[in-house]
Amino acid sequence: MSRSRRWIGRWAILGCVACGDAERPRYVTEHLEVELYDGEVLCAGTLAIMDMQMERVAAFLGIDPPSQIPVFYGPSAVTEGCGGSWGGCARASGVFATSGSIFHELVHAVRQSQGDGGAVGTWLFEEGIAEMLSGYRWDPYSAWLHPSEIERGPEVLADFPRGEGKFIPGDYATAAHFVSWLRMVYGDGTLVAFLNDPRYLDGEAYDDAFVSHFGLSMEDADSAWRASAPEEYAWSESCDPSYALAWAGSVLEFTDTVDCEAPHTTGPRDGTYVTLRSHCFTLAQPGTVRVEFLANGGSLRLVPVDCVDTGEFAPESYDYKSLGGGDELELPFAACTWEVQVDSVASLTLDFTLRLTQL
Ligand SMILES: [Zn+2]
Repeated sequence: MSRSRRWIGRWAILGCVACGDAERPRYVTEHLEVELYDGEVLCAGTLAIMDMQMERVAAFLGIDPPSQIPVFYGPSAVTEGCGGSWGGCARASGVFATSGSIFHELVHAVRQSQGDGGAVGTWLFEEGIAEMLSGYRWDPYSAWLHPSEIERGPEVLADFPRGEGKFIPGDYATAAHFVSWLRMVYGDGTLVAFLNDPRYLDGEAYDDAFVSHFGLSMEDADSAWRASAPEEYAWSESCDPSYALAWAGSVLEFTDTVDCEAPHTTGPRDGTYVTLRSHCFTLAQPGTVRVEFLANGGSLRLVPVDCVDTGEFAPESYDYKSLGGGDELELPFAACTWEVQVDSVASLTLDFTLRLTQL
């Protein structure tokens, strides 16, 4: 049994059909207690991946994941819990988030468990890792900028302690980009050792901690980042290894159901669509592939995740492919890992078969 399928047994779903304020729908997962506001719905796959995010962030930090973090989910929960124009926040009382901010705020929640529920570290690094580690499954994240042109660079941002609202929107990408650079240059071990250093965590001597772990001052790190960082860092793990799809010779056949109550279906998106995601296949050789999407409705996207780009294949072979239910097309495919995404309408289940034939 796959990891995600196993989880559905752990959920106690304390739902109600027509809920007043006093009785909002609630879901209890291994690490979260999620309360839904504003008529929000969460498909089983989304809940599973929220729970996995807690384990993934904790594993990155080398700590035990916190248990039973309250999550207040929906726009009005964010307005009530965070105030101002925030898209979400993590407080000692729990996480306040929407679909757009939940993966970022869950990173803060894990970090705050290292500070007994209170804020830790400084804005630069905490927002940086929250952005970087928010890139997950169906929500890829990339930070793109020209380091040499940034006015408010890491050295300026490093002086903002947690809890002070001095960050402006553009600073988040700078923080994520700089932390990504540290991760790529110095490795996860060094970055995590710094993040977990008590001198950094309690925010009293983060400069000393930075020099100890990275061997240079913030000023020098700012200069090195400007001089050497690439423009873009992208972080995502679109494919779930336990959902890998295999070829049988030149044919790959995949039959499943898009169903908001099934553990691999995420959403709803825009209140309307639910999506089966995280199933991937790899095409070792480029070529033409017949794609048959056998379904009474719905839509299919095949999205390139990781490609061998030798530059010799037509650009369209790298494009994502889009089909409607019942379509059959012959299309050029580059040698990539491709993610299968199947959309259905939230209130319906959609049975489908995808058949790929290498021609
Ligand atoms: Zn944040």
